[in-house]
Amino acid sequence: MKKENIGPFFATLQAANPRPETELEYTSPFELLCSVLLSAQATDVSVNQATRRLYPVANTPQAILALGQEGLEGYIKTIGLYRSKARHLMETCRILVERFGGEVPRTREELESLPGVGRKTANVVLNVAFGEPTLAVDTHIFRVANRTGLAPGKTPLEVELKLMKRVPSAYLLHAHHWLILLGRYVCQARKPQCWQCRVAPWCDYQPKTPAPAR
Ligand code: SF4
Repeated sequence: MKKENIGPFFATLQAANPRPETELEYTSPFELLCSVLLSAQATDVSVNQATRRLYPVANTPQAILALGQEGLEGYIKTIGLYRSKARHLMETCRILVERFGGEVPRTREELESLPGVGRKTANVVLNVAFGEPTLAVDTHIFRVANRTGLAPGKTPLEVELKLMKRVPSAYLLHAHHWLILLGRYVCQARKPQCWQCRVAPWCDYQPKTPAPAR
């Protein structure tokens, strides 16, 4: 994507959705961290269904620890890989209590020291909970960045670093959500809906998908 197209690309996404938000439901950095940990290879809808029952009962590291592994599994067993997620979450809660006074740390290094927290999860927490201009490259962003020519790369890290360089600073805070939503609902993996895509004029992808015949 040519440099001069990047501004209009994001201005269009911003005009359609000025304050994009995560679809995960949370009311604190700790709830967000838990929800992101639970959402690996699961849908946000399935995570929200579980956490709507879990958080009213336990939404602090201390309260989750008090549930115990089995108690926690009871709340999240509708989510894929729930056993290993419960294990990671219990361990994360223990570390949060022992090393961070029960608070979610605000640096990438500290976040990545938690079990099950990789670069992507750390970026989501930094961006969504703490308002840092980070970009967590998930499967949707990876696809959109490559397909549109915005930030082509072979690995999520390569795409992330390119996005950090190419996205104008005015759009960095919300770029993560705009790109995820674009990938989830319009620029879908199997068939991008180019015929009804707002950013088509600035996207490199060719040939654009035509509207289905009626
Ligand atoms: S025009 Fe097509 S390929 Fe480009 S972002 Fe939109 S849906 Fe994706």
